[in-house]
Order: sequence, then C-alpha cells, then structure tokens
Amino acid sequence: MATQGLIGAVEAGGTKFVLALAKADGEVIARTRLPTNTPAETWPAMNNFFTQSSAKHGPITAFGVASFGPIDIDPASANYGTFTTTPKPGWSGARFHDALAHFNAPIMVDTDVNGAAIGEWQAGAGQGCRTLAYTTIGTGVGTGVVRDGRSLMGISHFESGHIVPPRNHINDPFQGICPYHGNCIEGLASGPAIERRWGRSLDQLVNEPAAIALIADYVAHLASTLVLLHMPDRLIFGGGVMKAPGLIAAVRKATAAKLNGYVQHPRLDPRLEKYIVTPGLGDDAGITGAIELGRQAFARA
Ligand code: ZN
Repeated sequence: MATQGLIGAVEAGGTKFVLALAKADGEVIARTRLPTNTPAETWPAMNNFFTQSSAKHGPITAFGVASFGPIDIDPASANYGTFTTTPKPGWSGARFHDALAHFNAPIMVDTDVNGAAIGEWQAGAGQGCRTLAYTTIGTGVGTGVVRDGRSLMGISHFESGHIVPPRNHINDPFQGICPYHGNCIEGLASGPAIERRWGRSLDQLVNEPAAIALIADYVAHLASTLVLLHMPDRLIFGGGVMKAPGLIAAVRKATAAKLNGYVQHPRLDPRLEKYIVTPGLGDDAGITGAIELGRQAFARA
C-alpha cells in the first residue's frame, strides 16, 4: 500500500470556501479562504491553491470535502459529489470530482454538518464517543450522526431540521418560515425564523425568558428525538442561535423533562451537563472534519 502523502481539505460553505493542505496526522501546512461565487470562478481558484501549495510541500494523495448542499454523498451513486437542487446560481450539477480530477486522487465528499460532526468527533467535544450527534442551529438546522468516525446516512443525508415539533399555538402563533413545512424546527427555531418572529436575534432576547424557553423547547424536541433514535454517547449543539446566553442550559432542562427518566445510562448525567454540550472546535470543526474525510478517502482507495 502506498504511503499517504498530503491531504487536500475543502470546507465549502454558502458564502466561503475554506481550503487546507494538511499532513496525514492532521497538521495544517497551508490554508486559505475564497468567496463562494459561481463554480466557473471558485473551481479554478480552488485548483490554484492546491496546485501551488502542493508544488511547494508535496503531492496530494487524497481529498476530503465537507460541503453545503443539497449534494449527493452516496459513494455508490454515479452522481457522488454532485450538487443536486441547490438554488445557488451555477452550482446545481457541479461536481467536486470534476473540479479536482487532474490531481488523480481519491475524494470523499460529505455534507458540511457531517463534516463538522466528524471534526468534533476527531478533535473536539465528541472525542471518545462511539456515536455522536452534532446539530447546528443557525441559518439552517441539521444534524450529523457519526458512528466510529463515519457519518451515517440512508438514501440521502439526514434532515433533522425538518422534523415538525409539537406546538402550543397560544404560546407561539408564529406560522414558521420553512417553504416546505412552515412549522418544522428549522421553520420555527433557525436564526432567520427567530428574526422573523421577534425582529431580533435570540442573543438580543436574553431578558425575555419566554423567548429562550420557547426556542429551547423546540431544540429539546430534536435533542430527545436524537436520543431515542440514535442513542448517542453525547449530543453537541452549535451554530449561531446556540450562542444565545442561557439557551444550552434551557435545552438541557427541557430535554431532561421530555425524556422524563426513560433513558437510564451512565452517559446521561442527571442534569445533562456532560451529555448536551457546545462544540469544542468553534469555526475549525468543518475543516478538521474535511481533513479526516481525506484520510478516510485514502484508506478506502
Ligand atoms: Zn421544513
């Protein structure tokens, strides 16, 4: 078996690409960021970075990509690595494997939230977990579930943000903003939903305990659902909304109330302070996960 050279890592977000060249042990030796324009602009800029940094530091033997979507992440699919129905102009049909073809290296592509989940499992708040659920509550809502370092999927990536939580219409008459469901968790508790409902972000509503409690209740519905479906060792909740002071504590309390003692395991401490946590890597979770995906691409090739 060939020895692993350098890893090309891509964290592709809706507004920016973060690119890194890393050693097999994860040490980053070059890094840059690019705006997410059209593929006609962003692909050549991405290739330039990898070509130039590789010329300086050595050959790239695998790529890992953690990307915005929707994108085909099924390695068995003919369209693996292809953007599907994204409304972002030019990206529908664009494929990472085409963009990186001339490096002739194996590529593993996953979603941005799965990438962050893998990053947290590898080097952040999910270290030591066999099963980890990482959820972002931000512009959108999504969950990556990692088992022994590999993200789980079915016919496609999971869509936890579109679970519809129970609602008290007197407490919350807001209709929700999801174009498909209205009042799913993303439609009720994402950053844009909070802005639409109250005209402010949640961290500007810290003096309104009812607002924090309402969002915590929706997030806790997702948390308790993740426990019942996946029995993770730990739940991580990140994203812009989760930075609101007091929210994570309120989510722990509401989740404990919903589970009501049903799940008994040493992993679930009574107040869930060790069980439901914030991310350990902050903004570096995605690129850390992309490097791990590159490592997996090499191992699988
Ligand atoms: Zn929805």
